[in-house]
Amino acid sequence: MTDRKVLVLASRNNGKLREIQKLLADLPIQVKLLQDVGVSESFDVDETGSTFIENATLKATLFSQQCGHPTLADDSGLSVLALQGAPGVFSKRYGPGTDHDRNQKLLAALDGQTDRRASFHCALCLVDPALPAPVIFEGEVSGVIADAERGDAGFGYDPLFIPDGYTQTFAELGAEVKNKIGHRARALEKFKEFARLRYFD
Ligand code: IMP
Repeated sequence: MTDRKVLVLASRNNGKLREIQKLLADLPIQVKLLQDVGVSESFDVDETGSTFIENATLKATLFSQQCGHPTLADDSGLSVLALQGAPGVFSKRYGPGTDHDRNQKLLAALDGQTDRRASFHCALCLVDPALPAPVIFEGEVSGVIADAERGDAGFGYDPLFIPDGYTQTFAELGAEVKNKIGHRARALEKFKEFARLRYFD
């Protein structure tokens, strides 16, 4: 166990962590959380980038400097066509309160709107002190925004997002489907391919 490669997940979002830990479970690595490697609760990174890639790179770089281990960061969000891509990189900060409050705000912004196309995006950044530069892995999934919140699984905007090819939201479909076709699952698939070649072959 101790000679397994350590990978730190630079996130405090439990929804993201649950998905990433599950999807990495078959790789021979020791996945650690920020609290396992002594990063203080009060240390945080300002997401000042204007793209998912910039913010993921900021987080992976600064958290890796803090802990000294290879670090994987996720920056992600929902982009709605009729809202010119909003909330986008501001998904977490789209409005005050809870995920439910932000979902209600999004529904209000789309009130009467027939074009409900949207996509989830995920940028993962790996910073490994042994690599010459940060490495980016991206994933996305297209769909539409439902008329009301539906379902209990997942987190964030999952109760509103119906992926193309389905009639239920991610929150109704649950982890099994989301971990196959979701934006994070798709980005992690690319990371795993890289990790298998780079670290284990
Ligand atoms: P970040 O921590 O700045 O990357 O913010 C991500 C935000 O985007 C989350 O707080 C959610 O609001 C939203 N988001 C990202 N990925 C998902 C997802 O898989 N399901 C639902 N909402 C998501």
